[in-house]
Amino acid sequence: MQNLWSDRDAKAAIKAHAAKSIGEDLALRVYTTRLLGGEPRLVQHGGGNTSVKTKMRDISGEMVDVLCVKGSGWDMGTIEAPGLPAVRLDALRKLAKLDSLSDEAMVNAQRAALLDSNAPNPSVEALLHAFLPHKFIDHTHANAVLALSDQPDGDEICAKLFGKRVAIVPYLMPGFGLAKLAKVVFEANQQAEGLLLARHGFFTMGSTAREAYDRHIEFVGLAEARIAKGRKKVFKSVAVPKRLANPAEVAPILRGLLAQPLDKDSGAWRRVVLDRRAGPAVMDYVNAAEIWRVALAGTVTPDHVIRTKPRPLILPAPEAGKLDAFKEAAQAALDSYIADYTGYFERHNAKAQPKKKPLDPYPRVVMVRGLGLYGVAKTAKDAAIAADIAETNVVVITDAERVGRYETIPEADQFDVEYWSLEQAKLGKAADKPLTGQIVAVTGGAGAIGLATARAFRAEGAEVVLLDLPAAKPAEAAKAVGGIGIACDVTSAKSVAAAFAEIRAGLGGLDILVSNAGAAWQGKIGEVEDAVLRQSFELNFFAHQNVAKAAVAVMLEQGTGGCLLFNVSKQAVNPGPDFGPYGLPKAATLFLSRQYALDYGGAGIRANAVNADRIRSGLLTDDMVAKRSKARGLSEKDYMSGNLLGREVRAEDVAQAFVQLALAQKTTAAVLTVDGGNIAAALR
Ligand code: ZN
Repeated sequence: MQNLWSDRDAKAAIKAHAAKSIGEDLALRVYTTRLLGGEPRLVQHGGGNTSVKTKMRDISGEMVDVLCVKGSGWDMGTIEAPGLPAVRLDALRKLAKLDSLSDEAMVNAQRAALLDSNAPNPSVEALLHAFLPHKFIDHTHANAVLALSDQPDGDEICAKLFGKRVAIVPYLMPGFGLAKLAKVVFEANQQAEGLLLARHGFFTMGSTAREAYDRHIEFVGLAEARIAKGRKKVFKSVAVPKRLANPAEVAPILRGLLAQPLDKDSGAWRRVVLDRRAGPAVMDYVNAAEIWRVALAGTVTPDHVIRTKPRPLILPAPEAGKLDAFKEAAQAALDSYIADYTGYFERHNAKAQPKKKPLDPYPRVVMVRGLGLYGVAKTAKDAAIAADIAETNVVVITDAERVGRYETIPEADQFDVEYWSLEQAKLGKAADKPLTGQIVAVTGGAGAIGLATARAFRAEGAEVVLLDLPAAKPAEAAKAVGGIGIACDVTSAKSVAAAFAEIRAGLGGLDILVSNAGAAWQGKIGEVEDAVLRQSFELNFFAHQNVAKAAVAVMLEQGTGGCLLFNVSKQAVNPGPDFGPYGLPKAATLFLSRQYALDYGGAGIRANAVNADRIRSGLLTDDMVAKRSKARGLSEKDYMSGNLLGREVRAEDVAQAFVQLALAQKTTAAVLTVDGGNIAAALR
């Protein structure tokens, strides 16, 4: 591991913080915390913590000794000074006199000693930092150190490697007890530069930021060198079918498998998003003959359990053309996973005081032989975190097996961490939004209505995919709404197939399609060129059919229903003069919506349309608005609000109509009018 300390960067950090009246100690604390946190082999997603002991002026003007320690909710890689709240050191150290202290009382005592009552909660490991005498303390869950410690003889291996420079603290759950134990171990080994928390992580101490950091990197480097001496080839691979199913075909089956019906009658499901990893280390691992022994043992550090659960779901390799057999095997494996998890909960809850509430028994990581591993969560962001942590486990467990035999803390200790109230708090308690876990694709996604629609679905918690022509730069447009952009020509079935394969592989499937792409061709119907009419039918009818067909295929594979939404425009019911080439295919698309409602209602797939009119967009450009309002002798404002309500209709209004139809679980074959009132276009 490379030491990234730079005198120039350290000085720059001091200068930048001085400008904000922040002292050198905290400035350097921020600097090396970021160095550690930016290295995924040391720190993953909110893991690890650091501290510095310094002096600060309190409100009365008195200089007091404080511990600035990482606050919960901050990530080490991007931390700033407010992420290291100052806690009165005396108040924390006094707690060492107590025999015991509950987690809740500890958190309360730490909060009560903050200089700023608005600061985040100090880390759950703050007392460990406070009880040690050193000025700078760095703590990570370094992969290489865990690989050596997670062994039946991990303590001996580490003692031999680090000698007296590192003292070993036996495993204990984080909290008051561990802080006191670490203090006792250090006091008996005062020469120690570091503390190994067995099967949990690594601490280094120093009188300067640089010393603590240098030691951390040096020790991790020693551990890496020790691992490099181990076996090169670790796992025996099992045979997988020669012709494996395509991951794009398998993902919707997994999404369907992992979706949970909210209640039998509503048609609503709690859905998940997938994130697949299939690098060489992951493939070696998921195909390993030893997978049952290593993957079911538990996570490499207890902290990971809240993101991945103690065990992944392990599925057989799916053979091409035999997906029904895979589906059946996967269901049986999930049923037994749930039974195992429930058993694990009941076994340990019987001894727990107070009694815990069971978490949902579904897996957070799925390993499919031949295909790789999947992070599973309600959002794409959390699925990526679960996948990152699962990959870290793969790396550490493989390295542990390189050196010896992987072994982690006993199941009862894993349960204590998974059901620890302070860990549960890290996951946040925000209620799900109405469309959390749902994946939505919007065609014409980079245009005004498409973007507004994507934004509206995102606001309801959905993951959004914007499809548009390459020239419309869908990837850039998607960034603005926090979604994914895919270049796609919806008039080409081949391009649509490629885009849907990308959606399946990227997020796992699709629940809602907003078929919105369109363009207005004009001409008097008796005189218009056939070519123009056919061109309009390609985009304004056949493209809707292309995407609807592809979407329904995914929805049927998932088996959890779905929703098709079509933008049909008022032309579908109320033709405008010389707008035949636009209105005719739109009228056909209105019937397309009804046909899908009829043919797929039995599968829980709904199909609805929005009938919108006079919205500034790619179809009705600013130039067109100027021309048309002038031709009618109206101001632009009067032209745009020329409807029964006298209100201009905006892209956001159309977007809301799509969202409402997606939420209306009992509505199908409907048309929702969004035109401010146009009696000639009213449906009957
Ligand atoms: Zn830790």
